[in-house]
Amino acid sequence: MTAPEPSPDPFGLSRAEWQSLARDWQLPAYRGRQIFDAIHLRGARSVSEIHEVPRSLREKLGSEMPIGLPAVVRREPSRDGSVKYGLRFSDGALIEAVYMPGDGGGARVNEFEDARAASGAVLSAAPGPKPGAAPGRFTVCLSSQTGCAVDCAFCVTGRLGGGRNLTAGEIVGQLYAVLDDVNASAQEMRVVFMGMGEPFLNPDGVSGALDVLFEVVSPRRVTVSTSGITPVFARFASLKKRPNLAVSLNAADDETRASLMPIDRTYPLDGLLRAMREWPLEPRRRLTVEYVLIAGRNDSSADATRLAKLLSGIDAKVNVIPLNEDPLYLPGWKRPAESVIDGFAAALAGARIPVTVRRSRGPDASAACGQLKGRTEDSRKGGSARNR
Ligand code: SF4
Repeated sequence: MTAPEPSPDPFGLSRAEWQSLARDWQLPAYRGRQIFDAIHLRGARSVSEIHEVPRSLREKLGSEMPIGLPAVVRREPSRDGSVKYGLRFSDGALIEAVYMPGDGGGARVNEFEDARAASGAVLSAAPGPKPGAAPGRFTVCLSSQTGCAVDCAFCVTGRLGGGRNLTAGEIVGQLYAVLDDVNASAQEMRVVFMGMGEPFLNPDGVSGALDVLFEVVSPRRVTVSTSGITPVFARFASLKKRPNLAVSLNAADDETRASLMPIDRTYPLDGLLRAMREWPLEPRRRLTVEYVLIAGRNDSSADATRLAKLLSGIDAKVNVIPLNEDPLYLPGWKRPAESVIDGFAAALAGARIPVTVRRSRGPDASAACGQLKGRTEDSRKGGSARNR
């Protein structure tokens, strides 16, 4: 068996890969274990901090696999304690990650929407004020790509266009950049892949990052959200340790869904629902269906009835996410009236579909996925993100 290719970024190697690499370097496997544990369990952020290994090995690591986190270039704190980050990698690629304090119990996947809706954000040329130490449980929302080619009509990241895949090390690195900034440890953490990008279009990077993350956090605390790249379900379903799965559905018929999510024309609902039914669920776990509710597009009682029928026999809960209006990036798109939101949720509940509604708490300076990147790129390049 050949040894795994070393990642250019040491954050992306699992413990087993570090052990294998140590053997490749004619060292005992435990040296690899020591390096992994120093980085991921003890929080070493530079080679010089890995004092468990001999100096000669530190020098080899320093020259061949230097450790580096992405730079915090934007920091938007909200009054509820959420912080939205703009992080830049060494090649100039910019991504978003969000820190959200608190915990509602269970693997919730809608906290990112919560953070988008939080009020009181600060936007300035400097990264912004550093938050205080993170209290108790919290969730970090991660990006998997530097843009997104899926182009959902309601999503600012989609408007910004496609980008490159993040490596496993870059995904883990963005998490550690956030943890370090809020002075938090991974112990009380939940992770959701609901930031920029479609995780299932970057299966190598995301599954590699999961291999690392599952050494420090339970799979039950990690959720991957997909727009429904049907052929990739089997790959993630076959993982020995699986994250929670969220599916961004947003419509209950192909015509409506394709108008909101062009990906539906490639992977229509019947195949997607089959893949959801085949997803292996451990005891006390269920799928999450995300449904962004948009006035006049997918919010009728007939939509709710169709959705309930569609999900019949699938062990899933529905997160109804009323659209965060954004006249700049999403002109003409409206949030439904409260009575419509309530009626939609009630129709699902009446059909015995578990449902929660994520209420917005006010406008945010960067209220939608990708908008922080848009604004940061705007100020950097002096252009409009919408015209890119
Ligand atoms: S909602 Fe997700 S999949 Fe759709 S364009 Fe935005 S980032 Fe991509």
